[in-house]
Amino acid sequence: DTASLTGKELAAAINADTKQRAAARTEAGAAPRLALIVANDDPASAWYVNSLRKAAERLGIACDTVDLGADATADTIRAELEARSADSATDAIMLQTPLPAGITLDDVSSAIAATKDVDGVSPLSLGLLASGLDGFVPATSEAVVELLKHHDIPLSGRHVAVVGRSNVVGKPLAQLLLAENATVTVCHSRTTDLPAVTSAADIVVAAAGRIGLVTGKHVREGAVVVDVGTNESADGGIVGDVEADSVRGKAAALSPVPGGVGPVTTALLMRHVVVAAENARR
Ligand code: NAD
Repeated sequence: DTASLTGKELAAAINADTKQRAAARTEAGAAPRLALIVANDDPASAWYVNSLRKAAERLGIACDTVDLGADATADTIRAELEARSADSATDAIMLQTPLPAGITLDDVSSAIAATKDVDGVSPLSLGLLASGLDGFVPATSEAVVELLKHHDIPLSGRHVAVVGRSNVVGKPLAQLLLAENATVTVCHSRTTDLPAVTSAADIVVAAAGRIGLVTGKHVREGAVVVDVGTNESADGGIVGDVEADSVRGKAAALSPVPGGVGPVTTALLMRHVVVAAENARR
């Protein structure tokens, strides 16, 4: 039987700790404060922003949403990120994607102060991670590692295949896994014979944003599979990158979508906000 690597219990445990620490900050003078910067009119982004606002509220974290509009320029976005970076009342900054057409995260993310970069998107944060130095780590990548640890799946010495090489998920995840002493193979859209590469791995992480990309023929018997994908299905729901029907029964364990990596990602983001607030007041 294939075990389900659910993230709900782990997320609840992280949230309980975050809530206490947020309350302590509030008692000491001010609630931790997160600024969510939006520059799109994308419904999926709006849904995600709303869910982050609700999560923050439940945990006692103050949240400002700044909507710069879908036609914002890179200069406007950078100016807002710089202002929030300089504002002592703001502890944490998250820039939502997608950004307006023609603007990439790389064009603007360096304007986020590393001390407030709770999703680890700036080149400085990513460089600190690659160098093995302290900084905020992208929450989704951290969630994958924490989910595996929570379910007692060892990483040291094991072969992990990561499908996806974005700066947001795949690349930082590869760095985190290396720090756990895993042997890491990073696959991407130009990988020749993906099933052969992923079938050689003990653990497969799907982070490509392609529905049904990872199937039974991509995983060997007894492998562990983590599904990072959050894709919109035809009926408006959310589905991962893994074809669960063919992977179940073959894999030893599979993380569900929704309810796997997602809740842990949100919980870790909120924990980062509280850590940023604690660091700022120290
Ligand atoms: P992206 O589009 O920036 O990157 C996708 C990566 O997948 C690329 O490196 C590409 O080379 C690779 N890829 C695409 N097609 C492939 C194929 N056929 N074979 C092999 N590799 C292929 O996406 P992203 O921002 O890294 O996000 C990946 C997925 O993770 C998306 O579904 C996204 O929604 C999801 N995501 C989930 C969370 C969460 O909290 N659960 C957070 C962020 C992103």
